[in-house]
Amino acid sequence: MKDPILVVKVGGAEGLDYGAVCEDVAALATDGQRMVLVHGGSAEANALGMALGHPPRWLTSPSGYRWRYTDRATLETFIMAARGKVNTLLVESLQAAGVDAIGLSGLDGRLLIARRKAAVQSVEGGKRRILRDDFTGKVESVNVGLLRALLAAGLTPVLAPLALSEANEAVNVDADRAAAAVAGALHAETLVLLTAAPGLLRNYPDESSLIGRLMREQVDEALSLAEAGMKKKVLGASEALQAGVSRVIIADGRVRRPLAAALAGAGTTFS
Ligand code: ADP
Repeated sequence: MKDPILVVKVGGAEGLDYGAVCEDVAALATDGQRMVLVHGGSAEANALGMALGHPPRWLTSPSGYRWRYTDRATLETFIMAARGKVNTLLVESLQAAGVDAIGLSGLDGRLLIARRKAAVQSVEGGKRRILRDDFTGKVESVNVGLLRALLAAGLTPVLAPLALSEANEAVNVDADRAAAAVAGALHAETLVLLTAAPGLLRNYPDESSLIGRLMREQVDEALSLAEAGMKKKVLGASEALQAGVSRVIIADGRVRRPLAAALAGAGTTFS
């Protein structure tokens, strides 16, 4: 038997309507829906990095995935932006909407343990480089007991995309894939990834080319259509389905009632 838990990832790029997301979370919570939220922080981290004279640097892996180069200074900027500002403001909005939210990062209570990539490869100008000072990781385990205890206490956990490495260092993790790991570990029925696009577009950026439904066998095709951040969402969707989540919906977070719309069939549903 699956628990009717909904995991929602709220994108960190500009354009998302956080107020609308929080109101919708409140409406679902009133109906008894238990939820865990995971959020990004890229736009805030970029803005803070620029203000601190430490602009972001994006790298591309040999297989075409883009990630934020995270040396220790960048990691600390990311902590200030994602765990400090985005997480706290989301908790503030949720509390204002009547949801008893609790903000955490993956470090708190060893909630998310990640494998730190000791050496990462990047491709710049056609040349491969190996970087050894990158604090990026991939979530390997989730402290399900802690999440269940918080849910049982009537709280709505709000998670910042930071985790603890096996050597107990803070690492930046991809929020879509972290949400997928959380949804899988909790045996959630549904994972919703809210972003600043209507879903997966066949001809990006043509919004009329939205793909409504994809079966899990079509993940490779979907990966070939997605670029940049959308690739991570498709990968997260595939990882969540593999971990037993029944459906993953990539949907628009810029609209009113974004969650209700997603659950009613808007966006791209992977099942
Ligand atoms: P978030 O901050 O929500 O995680 P990202 O900005 O990292 O989101 O990734 C989502 C973005 O990916 C979309 O807003 C869009 O600009 C871009 N994108 C790339 N390829 C596609 C595609 N095929 N369909 C839709 N969006 C795409």
